[in-house]
Order: sequence, then structure tokens, then C-alpha cells
Amino acid sequence: IDLKNEDLKDLHELGQGNGGSVKKVEHIPTGKIMAKKIVLIDAKPSVRKQILRELHIMHDCDSKYIISFYGAYLADPNICICMEFMDKGSLDGIYKKIGAIDIEVVGKVALAVLEGLTYLYDVHRIIHRDIKPSNILCNSQGEIKICDFGVSGELINSIADTFVGTSTYMSPERIQGAQYTVKSDVWSLGISLIELALGRFPFSESLSDDSDLSDFESTLSPARPGSMNSFAALGLPPARPRRPAAEKAKKDKRKSKGVSLQGGGMTMSILELLQHIVNEPAPRLSGFPEPAEAFVDSCLLKDPDQRKTPKDLLKDEWIVEARLSPFDLQAWANTF
Ligand code: ATP
Ligand code: MG
Repeated sequence: IDLKNEDLKDLHELGQGNGGSVKKVEHIPTGKIMAKKIVLIDAKPSVRKQILRELHIMHDCDSKYIISFYGAYLADPNICICMEFMDKGSLDGIYKKIGAIDIEVVGKVALAVLEGLTYLYDVHRIIHRDIKPSNILCNSQGEIKICDFGVSGELINSIADTFVGTSTYMSPERIQGAQYTVKSDVWSLGISLIELALGRFPFSESLSDDSDLSDFESTLSPARPGSMNSFAALGLPPARPRRPAAEKAKKDKRKSKGVSLQGGGMTMSILELLQHIVNEPAPRLSGFPEPAEAFVDSCLLKDPDQRKTPKDLLKDEWIVEARLSPFDLQAWANTF
């Protein structure tokens, strides 16, 4: 369809992220319900056109694990991206509403994300770059699909120039400035799965609602391809030896920058959290079925050389189990 702004009627807002907002809209000529993402982009007309060309690849993305793309257009100063509307929203919204997600469902989520990542990489050589619960969507047919993947290098650049997203799903190697690979997405998947299974972000008991990370993150450097998104860019040592417990406790009490992740008596600034991801053992699932725990452990191997690719992980015992499981996702999705 040839999408025009005037043909789209706003119904209501679905949510806001760092890069813009998403609205539920109706395409009047066809009656089709869509999700319209509005991204504010501060870029030259030539760059905007390049972004639109790059977004065109999404027309060729055809997988039941990937959100369908209906089209994109310029509505100065925004770029509007119209996509499949998922009526149950994103998994972060779902667990915040219903609490920790049943491990059977988490297994199905892992399978869907791995299928989506494998499709994007094998067929289009696309690395997602932003796997997290808010980019995994669900509908009332019980389908699980991923969205917001990095199709457009120019879009990534333009957004990176204006803001930086929460970097807390970022793999240790990315924090240290290495290039994105498909294995960085696997790390982010592991963190996301723990978050869904526990019903909270794994690195803290609770992330204080009012924490405004933007000020801090702008100093954390944009995730530009080739740029130094690393401790080095911050003038910090890339890694530090583990501190003795007493000294660590003292340090944890000190708040830096006023931005904190709080929980369990521990206070961490975003910077400390990133250092924690690099220096400390990866988080783990515990108290869950062994295959689930083993799978998450393999996603969260800190050395990317040891971590498997999404394609290899499709052969993992827990994922094979999830594929065979008769668990009814559609029935589940209709309980909330
Ligand atoms: P960030 O900007 O850090 O990536 P985000 O993913 O939450 O965070 P957006 O991508 O702007 O930000 O999305 C905002 C919200 O809109 C999401 O959390 C999700 O709940 C909702 N949303 C996005 N796309 C769709 C869609 N296709 N169908 C239904 N809801 C959607
Ligand atoms: Mg998103």
C-alpha cells in the first residue's frame, strides 16, 4: 500500500520509547489497523531519503517471527514507520501487568526470538541490535514476533546522534566497544528471558521509576557503527580487578551522578551497572527446570567466542522441548 499521513487516523498511543512514540492507527482507505512509529530525525533530506531506501528491505522480511512492515514515509521532521499491530503489546508491558511469565511461555518466547534472529541473519544478514522485552510483541492469536531491528544503518546513526537507548541489555563485549555480532543479540536474549521469568530486571530488585537515565546515557556515547562505545571513550579503565567485599560495599553505598538502580540494599549507577556486567559473573536463572537454566547460561557466556549463534541455539535441548510443547499460547494470551 502507498501510505500517506492523511490516510491514517490516530486511535490512541501505544507507548513511548527513547526514539519516539508508537500509535495505533487506522488506514482509512483499507480499514486496516496498524502501529505507526514516529521517529524524530535530525538529518539532512538526503540522509532521510537514504533511511527510507534502507527501510525498504523490511518489505522483503517475511517470517512469522518478524513484525510485518506496511511502509514508511517522511512527515517532516519525523519518519513514520507503519507496521503490524500486535494487540497484546510487548512482553515488558505483559509481565508488568500479570507478573512473572510462566517458564513454558518463556521457552516459547526464546524459540520465537531465535527463529526471528536466525531468519534476519541468514536471509538478510541483519543483526537485530536491540533485543529486549519491549521489542518482543504478542497478539491474541498467541503469536510472538520481534520488532525494531537495525535494518537501516543511517537510521541507527541518526537516532544515535540524538539519543542513546538503555544500554542495560548490552553484552560485555559491546560495552567494551567491540562490534555488534549476532552473538550480542544472544546475550540480550538471555537477559530478557531472566527478566520475563522473574518478572523483574535481573540486575536489580527494582529500577526506581523516576530514574532519568538520559542525562547519563548521553555521555555513554552513541551506538554508532565504528564509534567508541566503550569505557575507553569515557576515560575509564576497560576492566578493573574485583574489589574485596568490604571495599565493594563501601563503594556501592556511594551514589554517582544521582542516577541509581536500587534493590536488595544495593545501589548502582548506570555506569556501575555496565562495569558490573563486564566484571562480574553473568546473572543466572535459579529454581527453574534445568534445561531452562542451562539455556540461559549458554546465552550469557561472557566470552562471545564461546557463546553460540541463534541458529545453533535452535538445537538446544530446552528449545527443542519448547517447540514440541503443546502449551497453548493463544489460550494464554487470552487470559489477560
Ligand atoms: P526503546 O525506545 O528504548 O527501544 P521501546 O521499545 O519501549 O523502548 P518503542 O519502540 O517506541 O519504545 O515502543 C513503545 C511501545 O509501543 C512499546 O513498549 C510497545 O509496548 C508498543 N509497541 C511498539 N510497536 C508495537 C506494535 N507493532 N504493536 C503494538 N504495540 C507496539
Ligand atoms: Mg521498541
